[in-house]
Amino acid sequence: MENSGNRDLGMDRPIRRRDFLNGIALTAGAALSLPARAGFETEHVPESSPDYYPPVLTGMRGSHEGAFEVAHQVRDGDFWKQAGTPIDTGETYDLVVVGGGISGLSAAHFFRKAAGAKARILILDNHDDFGGHAKRNEFHQAGRMLLGYGGTFSIESPAPYSSVAQDLLRELGIDVQALQPVMNRKLYRSLGLHAAVFFDKETFGADRLVIEPRHSVDDGAGESEAPADPWKDFMESAPLAETAKHDILRIYETRTDYFPGLSSAEKKAKLARISYARFLTEIAGLDLQVVAYFQSRPHPLFGLGIDAVSAQDAWGLGLPGFDGMKLDPGPGPGMNRDCIPNAEAEKYFFHFPDGNASIARLLVRKLIPHAIPGRSLKDLPVARARYARLDAAHSPVGIRLNSTAVAVRHEGDPQTAHQVEILYVKSGKLYRVRGKQSVLACWNMVIPYICPELPAKQREALASEAKVPIVYTNVALRNWTAWKKLGISSTYAPGSYHTHVNLDLPVSLGSYRSARKPEEPIVVHMMRTPCKPGLISYEQHRAGRLELFKTPFETFERNIRDQLARSLGGGGFDPARDIAAITVNRWPHGYAYEYNSLFDKFWLEGGELPCVIARQPFGRLAIANADAGAYAYTDGAIDQAWRAIQELTGSHSSAGSAKS
Ligand SMILES: Cc1cc2nc3c(=O)[nH]c(=O)nc-3n(C[C@H](O)[C@H](O)[C@H](O)COP(=O)(O)OP(=O)(O)OC[C@H]3O[C@@H](n4cnc5c(N)ncnc54)[C@H](O)[C@@H]3O)c2cc1C
Repeated sequence: MENSGNRDLGMDRPIRRRDFLNGIALTAGAALSLPARAGFETEHVPESSPDYYPPVLTGMRGSHEGAFEVAHQVRDGDFWKQAGTPIDTGETYDLVVVGGGISGLSAAHFFRKAAGAKARILILDNHDDFGGHAKRNEFHQAGRMLLGYGGTFSIESPAPYSSVAQDLLRELGIDVQALQPVMNRKLYRSLGLHAAVFFDKETFGADRLVIEPRHSVDDGAGESEAPADPWKDFMESAPLAETAKHDILRIYETRTDYFPGLSSAEKKAKLARISYARFLTEIAGLDLQVVAYFQSRPHPLFGLGIDAVSAQDAWGLGLPGFDGMKLDPGPGPGMNRDCIPNAEAEKYFFHFPDGNASIARLLVRKLIPHAIPGRSLKDLPVARARYARLDAAHSPVGIRLNSTAVAVRHEGDPQTAHQVEILYVKSGKLYRVRGKQSVLACWNMVIPYICPELPAKQREALASEAKVPIVYTNVALRNWTAWKKLGISSTYAPGSYHTHVNLDLPVSLGSYRSARKPEEPIVVHMMRTPCKPGLISYEQHRAGRLELFKTPFETFERNIRDQLARSLGGGGFDPARDIAAITVNRWPHGYAYEYNSLFDKFWLEGGELPCVIARQPFGRLAIANADAGAYAYTDGAIDQAWRAIQELTGSHSSAGSAKS
């Protein structure tokens, strides 16, 4: 199929996308004052407008325009040249938290439990919405609300949640087991839909949609129908060399022990040191095209292709080639944490319609009850957050959005100071608040710039964080009849712009009802990780991050339309007609970096981990956030918050324990 032109793709259609580039734009003409906290008035507080509602914004979201510029100026050394004198708000809090993601919100919650409900807490976040990566996308189509996740997808983890994280979920009313029935994981299967592979002509010589013979990796869409004759369509239609096709079949069916004579532990140690790409070609002796086929398989979890993911991690992910190697089910050296088998991990899985934004919303409901109306999980999906109440004068807890912290420092000697001052920028003005203590629940690499008083070794460890760039795109479709016609619910597209595309996992909770019939509107989720094969892991992340910051929304939109047209055209999909709205959640600073046994030698050989050096408390400061555990999961963010609050309050609760 030829690349379609602008008009065919619908680039000229008035859908909801570029109309609002950021939350500030939405409310630029409607700036009002907040009810003043302790003697200061802010002039521009967009959040007080009744129209302020970031979840419905489309176009470029995630790290949206207006969220990162100040922090980048601080990084580049330009900020302080023009900063001027801060406006003193006169406020002093018991705790100031920098970062309103799940870690910052959890830190506020744990602090409140330790210090009492009257404790005054301020949470600052540079985005126009709370939740950090746990971000809600909301569409309204044909009179229905459609929810999507702009970041954190689900409650899941390679390891069971710690008792601390489990207790928090329980306090929020989340019972993962009891909630299982609200997920309709078998809907697509019951409609006879399969997982498919889309081969693109730029990579494979022809555009071709083929039913995936073995669907080994969960793509988040729920269960798909297993093909009756799994290899038939693939062997007939995949635009691959015959040798490559047979090699792919061979690696799925092999019972070869590639390292005979070694123990399971010795085999894992070897697999930890070789990439899956090299395992396939050098150890299993497969055709090079097999690498192109599997290249993007680990993107969703690792943000890297098989050139930079170890064979041991590929085994953990369920990729083929290891069935004959008699590997013990437990984790091997350099694997992340106490991994549990994939089937067992299913028990811990739950997806809210807006992903873990629901956890962030439940935390906010606990901290500032009137900000999220309702009382139960059932009323949560459709509850409209009241942003004007997030930072109200009478509330002991405030969440101040669109506020970038630029300096956090003790007033006096860190060992004896009684408080810290926090400078932040909001609506172009520099403000000062004070806190008796502060938790830095922002990203590790930001901290050395805003907190230069930390010891040099700690700053260096913090600065070494290389978060994984990732894009979660949500496309609201008017219907999904083309998917039904093609008999597919997801596509793995190893060479395409977005490598993983799937219909939303259906969840109906309370009065929120997900699409069940192909004629109904739905959200399609598309994932892209801008990695650069050939470089080492953190260099790939740096290069990808740069690419994301430089890519305009129009480029994303064109690629989205082109890819959907080419992969679904055979089912009658028309991007100009069928796409109702597009939200690109761009996360140049995405997952916390997890150590990689191919490149981070200390990860196998031992020694102090950079994340441990980085998270040491200092005077009245403690460090939370997922980076502090080098673990990119919700429970990691909660556990790090708990540890940080233990450090500040000196409490040593025997009731809970967190993973380190
Ligand atoms: C796309 C994506 C999908 C994911 N999916 C899952 C999943 O399915 N399941 C799972 O368990 N985990 C998932 N994760 C990981 C999980 O989201 C994170 O581990 C967790 O939410 C991180 O929480 P956090 O509070 O540490 O960081 P964040 O959510 O990043 O929050 C930190 C906040 O601090 C802000 N900040 C930074 N600097 C400043 C500053 N100077 N001033 C003010 N604010 C600042 C940031 O902008 C951000 O809003 C996913 C992550 C991403 C990126």
